[in-house]
Amino acid sequence: MPSRIDLRNALLVKPRTRVRLARMDHGATHGWDKVGAEPELDRQLARLADLQDRFWAEAKRSVLVVLQGIDAAGKDGTINKVMEAFNPQGCPVTSFKVPSTEELAHDYLWRVHKQVPRRGEIGIFNRSHYEDVLVVRVHDLVPRKVWSARYDQINDFERILADNGTTIVKFFLAIDRDEQRERFQARYDDPTKRWKFSMGDLEERKLWDDYQAAFDDALSKTSTAAAPWYVIPANRKWFRNLAVATILADTMAALRPAYPPVADDVPADLVIE
Ligand code: AMP
Ligand code: MG
Repeated sequence: MPSRIDLRNALLVKPRTRVRLARMDHGATHGWDKVGAEPELDRQLARLADLQDRFWAEAKRSVLVVLQGIDAAGKDGTINKVMEAFNPQGCPVTSFKVPSTEELAHDYLWRVHKQVPRRGEIGIFNRSHYEDVLVVRVHDLVPRKVWSARYDQINDFERILADNGTTIVKFFLAIDRDEQRERFQARYDDPTKRWKFSMGDLEERKLWDDYQAAFDDALSKTSTAAAPWYVIPANRKWFRNLAVATILADTMAALRPAYPPVADDVPADLVIE
């Protein structure tokens, strides 16, 4: 049995600390092995299912899960494996793509704020407003002066959401450059996955170092008490899934979601004929 280290504590980016992804081990498993992780993931998924049922019934607060990571880091896979615990009715997923003309005609948070979860929902962001300090920065889509002001704006935005009943939990899926190469190759080689592969992915891959610098800054500047970042070692998919499921379940358990009280006019001993 592996030692049960507290993944929530181990993987948290402590506010006001400097993240350097290059110095972290993205293949770490924190004492787990694949065989031991399997039943543990099932256990965490069962916890998540129970917590979501209560959360949905309670309908007073919301949870926002933000997923970021470089191409092929496993954002889609994580949603597939971990969020399967949830009743889809209470778990909207939003994938943020290249902004439309309409979206670009507004401030960058406009499209994001519209998608934040309702009370009772667990909203998943597959990419997010963080793209506006990541791809936007790497490709100089706006001047430095504009993107560099956004870290504080994002912290303010997330604090407003948190103050109004949204628990925010942000996962950065961290993989190595070589792991990305292998995943792109596997994608290309598999006829059921080649559709996911684009030559543009290889152009982005050339900008690896610029992305790492942008990730380091975003993680360092925007991990707050109200909206913490967790850096998930994601080279091993089974550990990634276990870590995300455990941290999300621990976060939701701390909220103690409860079934609402029975309506006043419902008697205690009713037998329905
Ligand atoms: P995918 O996640 O593979 O479907 O790709 C979505 C693409 O949209 C990625 O290349 C993102 O970098 C890009 N994207 C998402 N948000 C923005 C944004 N705000 N500005 C520019 N590109 C974005
Ligand atoms: Mg892609």
